[in-house]
Amino acid sequence: MEQNSSIRQAEVVVVGGGPGGYSAAIRAADLGKQVVLVEERSQLGGVCLIEGCIPSKTLIHAVEVAAAAEHAAKMGLSFSDLKLDVDVLRRWKEGVVDDLTQGIAGLVQRRGIDVIHGRARFTDNRTIAVAGAEATTLNLEHAIIATGSRVKEVPGVDNAGLWTSVEALNVSEVPERLLVIGGGYIGMELGRVYAGLGSRVTVVEFMPSILITADKDLAEVVLKNSRRRFEEVMLSTKVVGLEQSGGGFKVTVEREGETSTLEYDRVLAAVGRRPNTDDLGLEHTRITPDRQGLIETDAQCRTAEPHIFAIGDITSGIALAHKASREGKVAAEVIAGRDAAFDNVTVPAVVFTDPEIAYAGLTETEAKEQGIAYTKGKFPLAALGRGRALGKKEGFAKVLADASSGALLGVAVVGPHASEMIAEAVIALEMKATLNDLVDTIHPHPTLCELVLEAAEVAAGSSVHSNPPRKRRGQ
Ligand code: NAD
Repeated sequence: MEQNSSIRQAEVVVVGGGPGGYSAAIRAADLGKQVVLVEERSQLGGVCLIEGCIPSKTLIHAVEVAAAAEHAAKMGLSFSDLKLDVDVLRRWKEGVVDDLTQGIAGLVQRRGIDVIHGRARFTDNRTIAVAGAEATTLNLEHAIIATGSRVKEVPGVDNAGLWTSVEALNVSEVPERLLVIGGGYIGMELGRVYAGLGSRVTVVEFMPSILITADKDLAEVVLKNSRRRFEEVMLSTKVVGLEQSGGGFKVTVEREGETSTLEYDRVLAAVGRRPNTDDLGLEHTRITPDRQGLIETDAQCRTAEPHIFAIGDITSGIALAHKASREGKVAAEVIAGRDAAFDNVTVPAVVFTDPEIAYAGLTETEAKEQGIAYTKGKFPLAALGRGRALGKKEGFAKVLADASSGALLGVAVVGPHASEMIAEAVIALEMKATLNDLVDTIHPHPTLCELVLEAAEVAAGSSVHSNPPRKRRGQ
């Protein structure tokens, strides 16, 4: 125990104040539990709110506004002299983050949740020691571990001086030439931000496609757009050498056995994240993370210690804030004696690229791999009235249903506001809806969400806005 450390009893200790942790703490408090929330940072909100999802979406919105202003010329609206003031943009983004973190702090405080700022480590399976200015020993009945993840280093090269998403989201400068290593979520979203702010962006991706977990037909739409806006997107390419040189970087890449060396002003590493489970004192419990650092949990989010729960990026499955917050609520409800389980049919994936990608349920790749017989309907944005009214043609929706029962299997959208459109598919999948349920549902007109309806109609063979099958023409 640290000197001057106080000792407290806690019904529930939540370790980590990100979207998973604060949701768990609030839900547990609302269900009558006495909750202590331990967070190392001075603010609540975690990576997502402070240095991830929220700042990145704020910056993406700014570049979308600039792109919309440019696009408006086609409609006879011209703006002269569109200028960027990076300091104002940064302050705007910080203002958004500050408002939200203060909002979370208020929600937590008004529930009487005790927030301790410091680093938590288990000293045994019933005790957590919090180090730091507010050093405390917590004797706990239940714990929820929600410590999230951190950026992975680029393997095999010196990472000194590289930007991670944290530095990139600080927008301390707009480099003239930016190399992004990794064509995943972060690489493609932040590549979009910096291309929009005026950088010449190059992406190097190890795999033969960007956004490898999305179906190829979706990723292709974003790849085509990115190739127009970025300097280059190099696929099946590996960074094999990296050295700082004259304020910039000399980077050697290898593709099909051929190497080339290029110079950049900044390099952003975006090659994935790893769970924060290595410095939690878990060796003093029966919880043993696997080789990747992930903690095994059951459907109620319990670990090998039945009174300790784990949620979010430190557990298996997709590392997304909305999965963490759902798991946090499940863990809190189980602790409060409710019959809760993380039995969700799907965790939607959303990528805020240009255009956006969103999908829920089975991807087409998964359906093929699992040998599932499916019917598919695809409908292009270019044929949708609202899409045309917005001047947007790039994208489509895709609906998959079980070939015999018609049960909805998966929905994917690539296009503007795909992130909003996918919510309909998520609820349909959770409610075990069929293709006909989607087709018979009146969608408001003219809206982008009709794209999903149109794709469902194509899959059901009842599409009004597609050409008739060849054999019926002229009948
Ligand atoms: P990612 O797993 O999405 O992508 C990493 C990419 O880097 C992969 O495509 C991988 O093939 C590539 N890669 C790995 N090593 C490489 C190397 N040496 N050289 C070149 N390419 C290499 O990871 P990320 O983009 O760092 O994002 C981390 C996580 O953060 C995501 O998995 C996601 O869970 C979360 N995130 C989500 C959102 C969102 O929901 N919109 C946005 C940002 C981040």
